Amino acid sequence: MTGRVCPVPGCGATARAGHAMCRNCWSMVPRESQRLVYGTWRAVRADRTMAAVVNYREALAQAVNNVLARPGDYDQRGAT
Ligand SMILES: [Zn+2]
Repeated sequence: MTGRVCPVPGCGATARAGHAMCRNCWSMVPRESQRLVYGTWRAVRADRTMAAVVNYREALAQAVNNVLARPGDYDQRGAT
């Protein structure tokens, strides 16, 4: 599962092992959205049902959209 490419379009960085995105993009995902991704991922690991996978994919797609909706915000964030 290592060496996955970050799902954010135009990023192209490698996502960290066990993480959905690269560190840079993940830092731009709002905390609320991060929690949703984590929560749904845990459900996938626990349940292994198609419904859980769909929920996870939706949460991840939403997180990607949140990153894309933040143009020019790169410099201010990520410092924490
Ligand atoms: Zn990325």
